[in-house]
This record gives sequence, structure tokens and C-alpha cells, in this order.
Amino acid sequence: MRVDAAMCILCGACSGVCPVNVIEVSSTHVNIQEGCTRCGLCAKVCPVGAIGFGDPRSKRVKRFQRRQA
Ligand code: SF4
Ligand code: SF4
Repeated sequence: MRVDAAMCILCGACSGVCPVNVIEVSSTHVNIQEGCTRCGLCAKVCPVGAIGFGDPRSKRVKRFQRRQA
């Protein structure tokens, strides 16, 4: 999982749902430790879409571009 630091509002929602507790949210950043099972729950609960597989922002940009085409 990757976190887009510019989008993340450090709400802690992702950390709260992770079943294997690998997400650490501090007052300045989100750190994902080893052991992620790629369940996708964190991406589902993130209110701003800042966490996901690969680069969340580039995925959203691509989706937007597809819609405009
Ligand atoms: S994908 Fe699942 S296991 Fe991996 S960090 Fe997110 S909630 Fe945790
Ligand atoms: S749920 Fe999203 S906005 Fe909230 S701390 Fe996690 S990555 Fe950041």
C-alpha cells in the first residue's frame, strides 16, 4: 500500500481498520510496516482516497482522464 502524503489528513481511519495492525499514524505521517495482506480495507475507509495499491493519485488521474475521453 502507498500513502499520498499530500492528500492524507492523518485521520487515523486506515490504522483503525487494518486487521494486521501494520499502519502507524503519527502527527506528521503514515507509516506502513511489513506484513500487509493487501486486503484493501484501509483504501476503502480513507475519506480522501489517499491510500491504495500503487500510486493512489495517478490512478485517480487516469480514471478522470478516461471519463473526459
Ligand atoms: S491493505 Fe489491509 S492489511 Fe494492508 S495496510 Fe491496508 S488494511 Fe492493513
Ligand atoms: S485514512 Fe487516509 S487520510 Fe486517514 S490517515 Fe489513513 S491515509 Fe491518511
